[in-house]
Amino acid sequence: MARYTGPVCRQCRREGVKLYLKGDRCYSDKCAFSRRSYAPGQHGQQRNKKVSEYGLQLREKQKARRIYGILERQFRLTFERAEKQKGVTGENLLVLLERRMDNVVYRLGFAPSRTLARQLVRHGHILVNGRRLDIPSALVRVGDVITVSEASRASEYFKGLSESFGQKGAPAWMTLDAAQMTGKVERYPSREEIDVPIAEHLIVELYSK
Ligand code: SF4
Repeated sequence: MARYTGPVCRQCRREGVKLYLKGDRCYSDKCAFSRRSYAPGQHGQQRNKKVSEYGLQLREKQKARRIYGILERQFRLTFERAEKQKGVTGENLLVLLERRMDNVVYRLGFAPSRTLARQLVRHGHILVNGRRLDIPSALVRVGDVITVSEASRASEYFKGLSESFGQKGAPAWMTLDAAQMTGKVERYPSREEIDVPIAEHLIVELYSK
């Protein structure tokens, strides 16, 4: 599956908000957005630029895509799936994005960023219900148990991780057994539990045109 391979921090500067795409670096003074919190490019520092309604909707969609690290086509397909579900489309969309394997691995603390989480999934380090699942876009279901494979636990990465693992805890909709490096999906998140700075109604408006 394709993914964005351009400059990462540029995306935060483009959206005018920290998207926390680089793990620990985002919390340090090396964060590019903290040093240059204006849009990239020649006109990036222009102030009082009037943004159209369409522009606002587009930016919101781009921000969501960038936070979850997915490209347009897959984002659109996720939106169409959300539209078909019962309930509020915008909230359905965010719940579907949260249920992605790479996001769940990130939320459980197996990786400091969704990008690295995606790589862990891709490389087959993560098991769901005891079976390897190496598709970052796969959606978890209630009752799924997510863990690190036995072989991978011996790797330098997971040995290093185990010292601090579990300190962050798990989101309210999952439980975490830090000693066993295992998480479980207890239910799907509510909108209030999804802490992403996205006004999802703008995305719905954009795609409803
Ligand atoms: Fe964004 Fe993190 Fe880069 Fe800062 S360090 S600009 S928060 S990706």
